[in-house]
Amino acid sequence: MEPRFLIDAHVHLNNYHEATRRPTVENVAELFGQMDLCGIDHAVVISSYKIDLDRPSVEELLKLLSNNPRITLVEGLRWRGDSRTDLYSLETRIREHAVKGIKLYPGYDHYAINDPSLETVFRIAAKYDVPVMIHTGDTYSRTAKVRQAHPLLVDDIAVDYPDVKFVMCHLGNPWFQDAAEVLYKNENVFADISGLVLGEFTYEFERYVAMRLKEMIAYMGNPGKQLMYGSDWPLVTMKPYLKLLTELKFDADQLENVAWRTAATLFRIDVDKLPPRVAPQP
Ligand SMILES: [Zn+2]
Repeated sequence: MEPRFLIDAHVHLNNYHEATRRPTVENVAELFGQMDLCGIDHAVVISSYKIDLDRPSVEELLKLLSNNPRITLVEGLRWRGDSRTDLYSLETRIREHAVKGIKLYPGYDHYAINDPSLETVFRIAAKYDVPVMIHTGDTYSRTAKVRQAHPLLVDDIAVDYPDVKFVMCHLGNPWFQDAAEVLYKNENVFADISGLVLGEFTYEFERYVAMRLKEMIAYMGNPGKQLMYGSDWPLVTMKPYLKLLTELKFDADQLENVAWRTAATLFRIDVDKLPPRVAPQP
């Protein structure tokens, strides 16, 4: 069963190892190479909460990727420290449709999902109807505070900002059941299934993740409405991760929703403008 399109709603263009550090333009080329290899029609590229040698700024990404029909750009919020996001510039990029969403990095950036200071950010998201993506659950960093990224906190903001659409990234891993409750309860909350492993799954861990996701789906009722496919490439190897979609045994309509339709609606991706797919290589 092949969905009509495939959208990867969660990729990055950062370097994650000093040893393999390379210019962003080479990471972009690798991204398109991987997308062709896997039959991915469109990817949502998310910028970081930091700008440094390994993490390109949204301005740099815009230079390389704007107007590409295969790419949606989501801007990472820098909210602590001395180089915070200038909300006036962020709003301008959103108004001009250069950026189509905002990503929060609670825990990493030492604030909680329901921090009151975020109100100004949520007002911008509501005004232009762009989704707010939120890192939820495990942080791959010992200096991050994981409690601040707990998925249950998404319920607070979902209730306080009913006009904003929120995306819980990584399904709140490992608090899947809490994430399922927040999704089931709130119509303005969505989730991507990205980043549930680093690199490639071992057989045991893939079974474990698939089992927990199936439990969530059973609890939520209609998962197709709110779940989106995403990988978290390059932290995750794109090709083997795609197998999760088949493991979860969605019915035909749910699969279309999870594979592309929900993401296309949320990020306003015009699937009719997508170039024809390069035949995936074996
Ligand atoms: Zn990510």
